[in-house]
Amino acid sequence: MPAQSPAVLLAELTSPEVGRRAAGGAILAVPLGSTEQHGAHLPLSTDTDVALALCRRLGESRADVIIAPPLAYGSSGEHAGFAGTLSIGRVAVELIVLELGRSATDTFEHLVFVSAHGGNTEAVTAAVRTLRAESRDVLLYLPRWEGDPHAGHPETSMMLDLAPELVQLDRAVRGDVRSLAETWPLLRSGGVRAVTETGVLGDPTHATAAAGRRLLDVLAARLIDEVATWCLPVLR
Ligand SMILES: [Zn+2]
Repeated sequence: MPAQSPAVLLAELTSPEVGRRAAGGAILAVPLGSTEQHGAHLPLSTDTDVALALCRRLGESRADVIIAPPLAYGSSGEHAGFAGTLSIGRVAVELIVLELGRSATDTFEHLVFVSAHGGNTEAVTAAVRTLRAESRDVLLYLPRWEGDPHAGHPETSMMLDLAPELVQLDRAVRGDVRSLAETWPLLRSGGVRAVTETGVLGDPTHATAAAGRRLLDVLAARLIDEVATWCLPVLR
């Protein structure tokens, strides 16, 4: 994976600097995460951390990317009943992404949302559909992986690579390991709480930083590929 330049953060630039870069065709990458329980071993920032990390990889791979401050709240109603989950709900997420997209495209011709929380998918997809219908150049990237859907092996491994100091692996427990197809009716009606007290869907106990790095490499490579294909006409 190429890593040629440090990632550029919007929040650290001045307005004229952003204006110059945007006039040169810069792409704004917006990380979308959540603040929700991820078991007894991962921080509530997990989804936001993963979204930001993927945007950083994108920003390191091409100099025309600027990374917006992440949206750290999402639609997390399915994690209600676990302390610390702060959900703003589906309607709010759709409206925020829509208005953020409209505002961002005042400055940037190209906008990519990176949404690392599955619960946001419906709302974010709807918002991006509207933005595109308004002729705005917006790409949506949804990182997907095989296996444990929540706070299990994949997410725990990624966090071990990204922020090992925030992972309490000694507290990791095997959660509900049934397939999503099996637990979906319960999840839909009663949320994660109805399926497992642990808050974990999967088994994080054998997670490793090396596995996390490999998964991040794959997810980042897909993002970089999608952006490259999308931007072909403006590639410089
Ligand atoms: Zn997560």
